[in-house]
Amino acid sequence: MHFIRDIYAAKGFAKQPVISFEFSPPKTDEGVRNLLDKHIPALSRARPDFCSVTYGAGGSTRDKTLAIVDSIQRRYNLTTLAHLTCTNHTRDEVRAILDKIRGLGCKNILALRGDPPGGGEFQKTPGGFEFASDLVKFIRNEAGFSIGVAGFPEGHIANKIGRHDDWKHLKEKVDAGADFVLTQLFFDNADYYEFRDHVAGKLGVFVPLVPGIVPILSATQIKKFTQLCGAKIPPPLREKLDAFGDNDAAAVDFGIEYATQQCADLLRAGVPGLHFYTLNKSHSTVQVLKNLGLA
Ligand code: FAD
Repeated sequence: MHFIRDIYAAKGFAKQPVISFEFSPPKTDEGVRNLLDKHIPALSRARPDFCSVTYGAGGSTRDKTLAIVDSIQRRYNLTTLAHLTCTNHTRDEVRAILDKIRGLGCKNILALRGDPPGGGEFQKTPGGFEFASDLVKFIRNEAGFSIGVAGFPEGHIANKIGRHDDWKHLKEKVDAGADFVLTQLFFDNADYYEFRDHVAGKLGVFVPLVPGIVPILSATQIKKFTQLCGAKIPPPLREKLDAFGDNDAAAVDFGIEYATQQCADLLRAGVPGLHFYTLNKSHSTVQVLKNLGLA
């Protein structure tokens, strides 16, 4: 298993994009089997550089994060990135989780603040962490991990001051020890380019700023996601989605085409990699990579 900072360095040197896939632990056993026996094998044939596994806000799927990380490493010999959040955790609990992650041989953590399970304002757990930057500092002191953090090309939804303030806090996470940034999904590349120009050009953040891409699978689902995470759907895209209604097959085909165009433009602009929100499905992501000549 590799340190992800080394993967970005090596591929950057070779002028090749780092390809990564994100999965979320399914709630049911059948969902876990589907992911591990069907979709991850199909995606692993596209030879990703690493796979990440999310950490649930509540509790029910949290134990599964590490089980899935373990399976991906052992069954498919792929480098993994375990997400970890501050939500409902004390420092001692986080230390114990880091020990477990280390014990599995996983060398990479995406350090996040997380959201409260039931919505509303985030509350720091007594004895825990207030911001992701505090978690980054803590993990950095625990040596032995390459650390990633979240970045938001349109600004974080809860930051009332605005995106420039949010990006200032992103710099704090990098200054605290983060090696790379994976962004929230976005549909207008101009947002990513403004983010990159400001964060790298003005704030002097020189770690990889990796765009997060979601191939749309359903009009209803993507409208719900974007509402939750605060990403905007540009008006021409919204019109298309409105026209698809419940026709998911048409939305999938369109999503592949849209993500292909988006990624092609980003690759031309020299992004360090592409991080795919697979939504636990393989077909669309594999197809996008084939269209780009990267599978
Ligand atoms: P932070 O960087 O702590 O920022 C949170 C808010 O506080 C922002 O508005 C920021 O501007 C503000 N802020 C930061 N520092 C300060 C400061 N010093 N003073 C004042 N304000 C400050 N969630 C999960 O629950 N599980 C996951 O697995 C998961 N994976 C994700 C993966 C990616 C790639 C992304 C982009 C997001 C993911 N999330 C996940 C969602 C994330 O947890 C939420 O968006 C959360 O609300 C913010 O997390 P953060 O790490 O960016 O927090």
